Amino acid sequence: MIPISKPKFLGNEKKYVNKCLETVWISSQGDFVGKFEAALEEFLDVKHVVCTSNGTTALQLALSGLGISPNDEVIVPNITFGATANAVLAIGAKPVLAEVCARTWNVDADKIEPLLTKNTKAIIPVHLYGNPCNMIAINKIAADHDLFIVEDCAEALGATVGIKKIGTFGNCGTFSFFSNKLITTGEGGAVSTDDTELYHKLLIMRDHGMRPEKRYWHEQPGFNYRMTNMQAAIGCAQMEKIERFIEKRREIHSWYLDILEKDGRFTFQDTESGASSICWLFSSLLANVLNDQEKQKLLETMKIKGFELRDFFYPLDGQPAFADYSYSNYQISSNIHKRGISFPTFFDLKKNDVKNITTNLFKYLELLK
Ligand SMILES: *Cc1c(COP(=O)(O)O)cnc(C)c1O
Repeated sequence: MIPISKPKFLGNEKKYVNKCLETVWISSQGDFVGKFEAALEEFLDVKHVVCTSNGTTALQLALSGLGISPNDEVIVPNITFGATANAVLAIGAKPVLAEVCARTWNVDADKIEPLLTKNTKAIIPVHLYGNPCNMIAINKIAADHDLFIVEDCAEALGATVGIKKIGTFGNCGTFSFFSNKLITTGEGGAVSTDDTELYHKLLIMRDHGMRPEKRYWHEQPGFNYRMTNMQAAIGCAQMEKIERFIEKRREIHSWYLDILEKDGRFTFQDTESGASSICWLFSSLLANVLNDQEKQKLLETMKIKGFELRDFFYPLDGQPAFADYSYSNYQISSNIHKRGISFPTFFDLKKNDVKNITTNLFKYLELLK
């Protein structure tokens, strides 16, 4: 069975985790947490990183830190993992679903302005499948309307626009280190920011609202969103190899592209000019528009053959949890979802696996004719 993704340990993961066990520093109060944060700061070229228990709490921490509160509205793309909208709802604010761009599948900057109201406080651009959003256009809208930007970089650690890494364009960037992301800590997340005042707020809110220099004194209400030393230990080892992880994703992407481009029945995610994707999950649109049943049949048939392909995220507007937050007819999202499939993308995948996966997919598509 070739799964859609699986983590890879290339170096010091075991050694560092064992160090936590041997020294009994297993909670969040061990020195791997600070080291992992420092490694991310250096890699992203950002002043501050605050690690969290997962990517969703990273989003919640960032939004809370910026003071987003009940009744505030936050722009969220209609195609993303549900966590982006869930984080907004968790702090009592209201997600406002924005249509995506047919070319890049990311939030369409031109569709944001019509959704703004006097209650809009922030935009969460999501760099889908590792592909950077149009940060220049989004930053301009935010500046013109005095809005915060929290970049959801869960799928895109290491992606760039120009010479800058994503996660450094907004007020904050948030990351996830779940086991299927570029690098993993099992579960884990982080917030990046260049704003030192906000950074100190995030530290306090991550740790129950206590002042770092005065424990058990609660400056403000807070959470426990801390990352454990064991998670951070794995993260430190993963960061030592991050360039190899990115290289491999890009190589796998080129293998798929070579085959599928020649076939001519597929379209691909466009990259904004000057941007560079980390190709988190190789994803493509079929020429065929499949209904849900047909899509599930395709995925099941491929699974029986031993290949785990993945459906695109369902557009949020059509799901019971988020249907109240739709403001237009999202036809582009719907079309992208009906045609989209993601392919196995992980470090140990071989060129021959890509050949087998695509050959079997072609056979199945022939049967549909
Ligand atoms: C994975 C992911 C998250 C959430 O990360 P968790 O660590 O699973 O909480 C948020 N947003 C997007 C776009 C993701 O892909």
